[in-house]
Amino acid sequence: VDNMKVLIADQINQKGIEELEEVAEVVARTDITPKELVKDIKDFDAIVVRSRTKVTREVIEAAPLLKIIARAGVGVDNVDVEAATERGVMVVNAPESTSVTVAEHTMGLVLAMSRKIALADKSVKEGKWEKSRFMGMELNGKTLGIVGMGRIGSQVVIRAKAFGMDIMVYDPYITPEAAADLGVEVVDLETLLKNADVITIHVPLTPETKHLISLPQFKLMKENAIIVNCARGGIIKESDLYEALSSGEIAGAALDVYETEPPKENPLLELDNIVLTPHIAASTSEAQRDAAIIVAREIKKVFQG
Ligand code: NAD
Repeated sequence: VDNMKVLIADQINQKGIEELEEVAEVVARTDITPKELVKDIKDFDAIVVRSRTKVTREVIEAAPLLKIIARAGVGVDNVDVEAATERGVMVVNAPESTSVTVAEHTMGLVLAMSRKIALADKSVKEGKWEKSRFMGMELNGKTLGIVGMGRIGSQVVIRAKAFGMDIMVYDPYITPEAAADLGVEVVDLETLLKNADVITIHVPLTPETKHLISLPQFKLMKENAIIVNCARGGIIKESDLYEALSSGEIAGAALDVYETEPPKENPLLELDNIVLTPHIAASTSEAQRDAAIIVAREIKKVFQG
């Protein structure tokens, strides 16, 4: 274990760094450039990243000592897993660390839309008092459609039930036991889209889920429907969402993730019936601390054999 070196390439929580310092020399270079990374990675046994640093094939092939690549977050989008696997380098992440935090952000976006909070805030700050403009929709008794009931979807179920919502789930891979445990009704996607007042997406982005929600799906939804995406950009087809929102096919949307991040020259930015956040659903200090600790422990395990 002595002499092991860990490169911290993106800012992570101090608690994770402290865990790593128990077993290794930890070097924090959170402003390292892609060029410097390719040059300097040769000295390191492990690298920790969040979203900024890309661990490309070039980086991996320049790293003879590298044993483990850790992403202190959910998903490994910024790691060339194929190149890592070819070289026997382990790739780990912390998928469970942010589930509650993302579910809370999801509920925040649902409420922001159902009560028009962002628009109302803007209006009051402009010196206006437009009470009738901001008539809302009560969530109690409404149907929430959850697309994808994994770690985050399950946390959303618990919170939405506390709001008195009825839950419909579309997830072809969920077991009957898991559905029964959470007390949710499992339906096909069409049934969910036709019946839900609020729809929230919690599937990974895969060839199967790319543009899963496009114009034909928007056309099935209720006119009062609100859709939320805190999963990944590209699951909702943005040009079709724009059409659905501007033609009144649905009432509103809230996005934390985009087909291109940050969204550039995106017409969605000009609409009033959409609330947008900059990919912050997982950004709480609690979630980031847990992610750092989880990946630090994974690295320790690898170093200690
Ligand atoms: P998970 O793997 O626990 O759950 C995903 C669920 O989707 C599973 O139950 C799976 O059966 C289901 N699923 C897969 N393909 C499907 C399909 N074609 N149709 C319907 N259901 C399908 O994942 P999770 O931890 O709950 O995360 C869900 C998503 O949230 C991921 O895409 C993740 O990247 C994203 N996420 C975003 C943020 C953020 O900052 N906005 C943070 C964390 C996670």
